Amino acid sequence: MPGFELFDHTERKHIQEVADTGVLMRYGFGGLRNNQWKAREMETAICRATGVQHALLLSSGTAALTTALAALGVGAGDEVILPPFTFVASFESIMTTGAIPVMADIDDTLCLSPAAVRKAITPRTKVVMPVHMCGAMAQIDELQEICKAHNLFLLEDACQAFGASFKGRMLGAIGDAGCYSFDFNKIVTCGEGGAIVTNNKNLYERADMYHDHGHDHSNDDRGAEGHPFPGYNFRISELHAAVGCGQIEKLKRFVEIHRRHKKILKDALSAVSGVTFRRLPDADGDSATFLSFFLPSEEIARKAAAALKTAGVDGAFHWYGNNWHYIRNWNQLKARTFMHPLYKSMLDAMPDYSKVNFAQSDDIISRTISVSIKMGWTEEEVRSRAVKIVEAVKAAL
Ligand SMILES: *Cc1c(COP(=O)(O)O)cnc(C)c1O
Repeated sequence: MPGFELFDHTERKHIQEVADTGVLMRYGFGGLRNNQWKAREMETAICRATGVQHALLLSSGTAALTTALAALGVGAGDEVILPPFTFVASFESIMTTGAIPVMADIDDTLCLSPAAVRKAITPRTKVVMPVHMCGAMAQIDELQEICKAHNLFLLEDACQAFGASFKGRMLGAIGDAGCYSFDFNKIVTCGEGGAIVTNNKNLYERADMYHDHGHDHSNDDRGAEGHPFPGYNFRISELHAAVGCGQIEKLKRFVEIHRRHKKILKDALSAVSGVTFRRLPDADGDSATFLSFFLPSEEIARKAAAALKTAGVDGAFHWYGNNWHYIRNWNQLKARTFMHPLYKSMLDAMPDYSKVNFAQSDDIISRTISVSIKMGWTEEEVRSRAVKIVEAVKAAL
């Protein structure tokens, strides 16, 4: 999956252009920078790649989510609905704004279940935040209808889905805003980085201010700019943006390679009875960074994960036992081991996640295995991997 696999002269050229000027900051220093504006250049490329009007590049996907929520005016007492199968950054960003993360079950798309979202809505709900997990899409059309009907914001956590689409529209570009991550493990990397995309100019301007201490960016002289709001520092550096400028030039090729490799693995595994696949609301839009499949029981899934490991198939995940991506092992949230005190009103309003029942998600995640797709494999390597995967899964069945 990671874009760093194909890091080459393209990125080095952009980095060198920044290094030649020595101006590592995205704002100001006009006279010294020899017309190099890498953050701006990548934002333009993101707009082109996603078809949105506004893109803001930031220091991480977590920063992007936090800033997008702040820009939407989400905070104290507001509830944000998200899935329990995601990366911890999704709930961390919500809590950072003082809002309440309300988790609703996933379904066989591995993303938010629209039915579960309907049940989770309360008068305090302000945002629905689907997470397009493992490179592919939630049922974003249905979620969008729910948001319209209930007057809620739709914020797409598309951190894992840059380059994927739903019926011709890029994931992240469908909701009121969408967020991408360009951390080191994502399909396009800046080393560290993230972005917010939106077609709402006011929302973009608010995010732009928030991510840089409230600066209104009205002036070349930073000292003379207005600060209508307090904000934070979630700025990207020019060096990181330069890496992204090189990577994004290759996005189409990256997706094409993933799809080719995934098809070989999926075709092979399709012949194994007892294996079913993650439901894709638009299979043509899959960025194909993972192949996710279901086994008949948790026990078989555990056995298959062990057999894959023994067979030397790296990058095979049984998320149920994983500490990062599923609520089952998020003891920091369940035991409320927060590093600093939170308002009692927030703690009182937050569901007690040591008790909330996620039976539907448990049933799905306990039987799910995802294998990551790499770009650096040769075709022979993909084919021999397909044989190993099929053998390991068959042995577990
Ligand atoms: C990677 C990721 C994030 C956070 O992105 P960072 O750039 O690592 O901060 C958020 N949500 C999901 C689903 C992710 O996979």
